[in-house]
Amino acid sequence: MTDPLLICAPMRIEARAIRRGLRSSASSAETLRSGSVPEVLRTGFGTTRAAQAAKNMSHRPFGPVAVMGVGAGLTDDLRPGDLVVGTDVGAVSCGSAPLLAAELRRAGLSARTGPITTVDHLVRRHERASLAAAGYLLADMESGPLAAAAGEHPVAVVRAVSDTPDRPLAGIVSGGLAALRSLRAAAPVLRRWADACGPRQVLLAGPRSFCAGVERAIEIVERALERQGEPIYVRKQIVHNTRVVGDLESRGAVFVDELDQVPDGATVVFSAHGVSPAVRQDASRRGLAVIDATCPLVSKVHAEARRFAADGYTVALIGHAGHEEVEGTLGEAPSSTVLVQTPEDVAALRPRDGERVAYLMQTTLSLDEAAQVSGALRERFPAVRGPGSDDICYATTNRQVAVRAVAADSDLVLVAGSANSSNSVRLVEACERNGTPAHLIDSAADIDLGWLTGVSTVGLTAGASAPPAVVEEIISALAGLGPLSVSERVTTTESIRFGLPKEVRQ
Ligand code: SF4
Repeated sequence: MTDPLLICAPMRIEARAIRRGLRSSASSAETLRSGSVPEVLRTGFGTTRAAQAAKNMSHRPFGPVAVMGVGAGLTDDLRPGDLVVGTDVGAVSCGSAPLLAAELRRAGLSARTGPITTVDHLVRRHERASLAAAGYLLADMESGPLAAAAGEHPVAVVRAVSDTPDRPLAGIVSGGLAALRSLRAAAPVLRRWADACGPRQVLLAGPRSFCAGVERAIEIVERALERQGEPIYVRKQIVHNTRVVGDLESRGAVFVDELDQVPDGATVVFSAHGVSPAVRQDASRRGLAVIDATCPLVSKVHAEARRFAADGYTVALIGHAGHEEVEGTLGEAPSSTVLVQTPEDVAALRPRDGERVAYLMQTTLSLDEAAQVSGALRERFPAVRGPGSDDICYATTNRQVAVRAVAADSDLVLVAGSANSSNSVRLVEACERNGTPAHLIDSAADIDLGWLTGVSTVGLTAGASAPPAVVEEIISALAGLGPLSVSERVTTTESIRFGLPKEVRQ
């Protein structure tokens, strides 16, 4: 953006608070890096003056537009000084609201997102209730026309709560002071938001998001809930994604760490990562009804571990300590299996018979990392045997190949996925090995606006456990920062489906 941020503030005291906030941050290193100097425009109190100011805006150059000021909180949970970042303001949709609200929270402010309505009078108690019932978080008297005047420019609306349903006009003085303090503290963050604005392209990696094993595991829990009603117990996270787990929880799934948290006789689902035989035996001893959502590709590795161990092999399991899948596979043949994470672990390996060494892999490893360790095994034990077909699953491989293809042409890659998702973490590493900065994010709110400054091409992918909806949310948030073109690079297509266990089959 060549034109600077324009901050519209209706009243003199609001404009003054914002200017002070901008001045107080003017010496910070972050602000000095920024080239643009925001302009604070006092637009006047009320809808009539706002409409006039909006008309006048067409005669001047401006870049991103922020409308800031105080407003009336409509819901009982809002407190004076809370910030409301508008998602929808009149007919204007502010796509970047989740990014801005998260940035405000990272700055230590209390910020929520939601619809804001503009009215032509001060709202009274009964009217607050009906506006809240209509879904609005805050009412003001200026934002609608000013936001509309931004036209095609990125727009943000940030209002600080001055009065609330339980402290309406009587509390307006103390509430107003709290609101002005919040506006002052928010002003530098708006500048960071403006610095992140600009035209951009998104390169979507294909394939991305859910794999067949994750879709199957989620469907198993959904069907179990439909058939048996809540609660359905699930040992560990069904897949490693906070959004998926939260959604199933809200529908009646109860996630537990261990079986002793499951009541006798209840139904328990084993997660996609698999369990050791000891857990199966425990469930059977307790009389629990088990539905196994272990991914068939993980079950294949378990079977290989049992077969090699039965043939007298020492099994080197290439994987990450503590991961649930690794725990499950180690448990298949505990006296014959050794975890190796690095070439150094291979050097330290002491097999019973150097001629009878085999290796297996965690399904979600990075291709490079696994090749390094399996190479070290082949070098030290020339007769080493590997799995019949590669243990790193098709979905892991495909997503790594796809993200490398977009990383090569991106300034930055965003990977949707949770921090405990192994395959998602590997996608970040794959980009970084290629020299492209990458970040793992659970949702659009995890995007730090500073990452986007000066970035014109964003690669975007999602780990095998991350829902496609998160990718859509990220795209719509980025579209709120300026013109966005989205294209997809498909390196392969997937058609694999796994059958369901008999307990939930129709
Ligand atoms: S990532 Fe691979 S092994 Fe894991 S659930 Fe998906 S398909 Fe199965």
